[in-house]
Amino acid sequence: MPELPEVESIKLTLAEKILGEKIVGIEIYWPPAAESALDGDFSELVVDSVIVDIGRRGKYLLIDLDKGLTMIIHFRMTGRLIYYSQKQPPDKHTHIVFYLENGEMHYSDIRKFGRVQLVPTKDIHKVASLSKLGPEPLDESFAFDKLGKQLSFKKKCIKASLLDQTVIAGLGNIYADEALFRAGILPERVTGSLKASEVILLYNSICEILNEGIEARGTSFRDYRDADGNKGSFQDRLMVYGRGGQECKICGQALERKKVAGRTTVFCTQCQK
Ligand SMILES: [Zn+2]
Repeated sequence: MPELPEVESIKLTLAEKILGEKIVGIEIYWPPAAESALDGDFSELVVDSVIVDIGRRGKYLLIDLDKGLTMIIHFRMTGRLIYYSQKQPPDKHTHIVFYLENGEMHYSDIRKFGRVQLVPTKDIHKVASLSKLGPEPLDESFAFDKLGKQLSFKKKCIKASLLDQTVIAGLGNIYADEALFRAGILPERVTGSLKASEVILLYNSICEILNEGIEARGTSFRDYRDADGNKGSFQDRLMVYGRGGQECKICGQALERKKVAGRTTVFCTQCQK
């Protein structure tokens, strides 16, 4: 599932190509993928619009159109948005093709959980999935004390808190495990038991890991590709995620693999306390 660094990479690769482009046509191959909160047909509302901005909130990509509309892209498990400069035939997983003045943008999704949701830009904060999101970890306004405040009331374990999008937006299984390893904190620790020094370590680890993930253009295990169709490279730098049973790159001990907060979690009992 694309997490913050992957969606940010899609945003960055897409921005160079689609900003200022007019959507001159659209083909919807799987209608449930195109959701509209407005009266009127999705296609009719979108066609003839100019793409004026592209942003991100948590794991959601936001494409602003000049008619005061925004397309919110929910990638979920296997959603992809890829830009082609030349004509490209759709494959069997392509759900929507946006034809631009120059090139085309394909939304595809093998598992079909993802959505492209059309909403009025002014109402974006009211959309259920966005309205409950916690702070953006890479915003300048997000300091360690804010993270501490977000975590202090939580009685569940720290892994569950990091995955909770209302606590902090954008972290998923990969970057939560990596941040906890770097901070030296065991994933099953009760969130409220973290000392101030540990919250600072965790805050720094989250920011570093996310920035390194963006620099590497994301992590590609199975499905993720950026908007150019390229894989990211952060998978080569993972310390714990997906490495259960293998040697810890720091201490050499075998890494533990266990379900925590309903998700497969990998950690080192020697390096994490
Ligand atoms: Zn270790």
